[in-house]
Amino acid sequence: MKGKYEANMMKRVDVELIRKIRQKIADLNPGIPIVFMEVCGTHTMAIARAGIRQMLPDNIRMISGPGCPVCVTSSQDIDLAIAFSTLPNVILTTFGDMIRVPGSYTRLSEMRAKGCDIRVVYSVYDALEIARENPSKEVVFEAVGFETTAPSIADAIVRAKKEKIMNFSVLSLHKTVPMSLRALLDMGDIKIDGFLLPGHVSAIIGVKPYRFLPIDYGIGGVISGFQPEDILFSIAALLKQIKEGPQIQNQYSRVVKEEGNVEALRAIDEVFEPCDSYWRGIGIIKNSGLKIRDKYADFDAGMRFPVKVFDSKEPAGCRCGDVLRGIIEPQECPLFARACTPDNPIGPCMVSSEGSCGIWYSERAYR
Ligand code: SF4
Repeated sequence: MKGKYEANMMKRVDVELIRKIRQKIADLNPGIPIVFMEVCGTHTMAIARAGIRQMLPDNIRMISGPGCPVCVTSSQDIDLAIAFSTLPNVILTTFGDMIRVPGSYTRLSEMRAKGCDIRVVYSVYDALEIARENPSKEVVFEAVGFETTAPSIADAIVRAKKEKIMNFSVLSLHKTVPMSLRALLDMGDIKIDGFLLPGHVSAIIGVKPYRFLPIDYGIGGVISGFQPEDILFSIAALLKQIKEGPQIQNQYSRVVKEEGNVEALRAIDEVFEPCDSYWRGIGIIKNSGLKIRDKYADFDAGMRFPVKVFDSKEPAGCRCGDVLRGIIEPQECPLFARACTPDNPIGPCMVSSEGSCGIWYSERAYR
């Protein structure tokens, strides 16, 4: 599979263009230590697979940020989903990655082995279908994701209301990206010289939500596509900003519009409202979550089932929080590739396809 991906990518890569952009990067290189953060897990994967780190001058470092929704979901929220799976008469539906993510004491895959009815779905519409097919059961969908997944979840809730599928509900663990960047910068753990901003999330939210970065923090960002030349071009643009002043640029304008996807934003707003949310490694970030509005409360699993969890804790020795804040690279975690591997993941960053630890392990992206 990986070989096929690489073969396809190499077919698409314009080697001469890559050479030219690398030269541009060399010309713009100020020669001092520079740190750029790629916010999105899909960028982390693309950077590792294309060997972008190895193409950059030694003084320019790319670090990964909090852009993997599975990874930033807190242990407490994972424990909550596990608690839902133990309720009588409940079918818990979830995306594939979440089933392997460790909570404080167990994980969904272990609960399934013990007999809980937990089903992996590819989309929220599969969960809705399970609810239609099982009217005597309560079907709860564990909704983990950023602005990219929220519109379809919102649409499913609207459909459930319209079709009166009253045994369907959503445990909304959604998060929104821009506020996490502010939180990260306010924490001040690491000096960041620019952000490679997410392509998919930005396709939904547009350009405006990032404008605070240069205004409030003097840091620029470039919304980037996912091809190697997109990423290198965006890095060159960030270097140019260091010389000429920070701004928010949209390198991915073939997909991302200034105003975002108006219809998708309307769908989110119809069903969700902002709420505070706890991010692994960062803590509570004001207005960075999405809560189901009161008018759809019948479809809010949190309202329908008063489940509480206590004594949640991070996996012992796991440094996912530091990885998500860009403080350490995955291989600096003492458990990386030793006690923690994709076959035996200790933290979510090793489980998720967008998690830095799993990507670094699979792609041997150690520098
Ligand atoms: Fe957590 Fe494993 Fe990554 Fe260490 S290597 S930070 S234990 S996921």
